[in-house]
Amino acid sequence: MEFSLIERIRALTEQPRDDVRLGIGDDAALLSVPVGQDLAVAIDTLVEGVHFPPGTAAADIGWKALAVNLSDLAAMGASPAWALLALTLPQPNQAFVEDFSRGFAELARPHRLALVGGDTTRGPLSISVAVHGFVAPEKALVRTGAKVGDAVLVTGTLGDAAAGLHALGNPFQADDKHSSARDFLVARLNRPTPQLAAGSALRGLAHACIDISDGLVADLGHICTASGVAAEIDTALMPLSPALMALYDDASAQQFALTGGDDYELCFTVPMARLANVQSDLSRIGCGFTRIGRIVEGSGVKVRGANGEWLESGYAGWDHFA
Ligand code: ADP
Ligand code: MG
Repeated sequence: MEFSLIERIRALTEQPRDDVRLGIGDDAALLSVPVGQDLAVAIDTLVEGVHFPPGTAAADIGWKALAVNLSDLAAMGASPAWALLALTLPQPNQAFVEDFSRGFAELARPHRLALVGGDTTRGPLSISVAVHGFVAPEKALVRTGAKVGDAVLVTGTLGDAAAGLHALGNPFQADDKHSSARDFLVARLNRPTPQLAAGSALRGLAHACIDISDGLVADLGHICTASGVAAEIDTALMPLSPALMALYDDASAQQFALTGGDDYELCFTVPMARLANVQSDLSRIGCGFTRIGRIVEGSGVKVRGANGEWLESGYAGWDHFA
């Protein structure tokens, strides 16, 4: 597409790095991987109407397209370096590209991430970002390492993004308290924060780690399947934000926390003997976290209700056994 659009993307996302030999402008970028590091790569696509609601601000789309990818690097314990951007636009829209690039750069800059290339095509709005990062060999946080007896923990609070999506489609009372809670939840949906510092801190501490993109139960389930274990979690221990609790009753808040996607917090398992190290290392970087359960023998994720009873997944969500 238009050269001027690519030139604007380049200018707005500029980030000099010594390891970029050749960035945007040639047929391919030339990059130097540091000696002794593994290259961690991930790609995610956002499609309008599927991964973000129509009407989402271009700057928020730019932020989120990068955030969901950086979250994958965080979940591996990798440090980000470079990105590629494949942008498909219904028409060459300079204003959209400028705002998109600003949102992207706002997140890229503090992580010193360089956009080194991409592709720009015409079609229904969709954005693919590929990220590249580094991690020391054998040090990556994989999904396969959970062990029976491990504690299960999560960073931050859960369910906010899903509640934010719900709140967008549902008018609430317009008093100050409700509108600021709503703004918080919508910001959690549109501007997720990838937990890169936490991922780095957990390298060498966590047995297994995943980022929560599809919901706690689903994503913890991936750790269980990959590791050949089961997990037991307690709804009473779910970390819920004040905003979530201000706008929703307990049952809905719990539902969002268990199954809502798009939070991009980390879920990880650690041996009990290392809990104190996790406490001190995550506190040092100012990262909130909560212990929500443990790894046991078996398969799947079991959810305990507030009174100690096991819940089951049904049509209406997580319910008491009938
Ligand atoms: P080619 O035909 O060789 O693929 P393009 O016109 O697609 O060339 O791209 C020209 C240059 O601009 C390349 O270096 C490419 O990586 C870069 N580029 C194209 N689109 C984007 C984009 N959306 N973001 C970043 N770089 C891009
Ligand atoms: Mg191209």
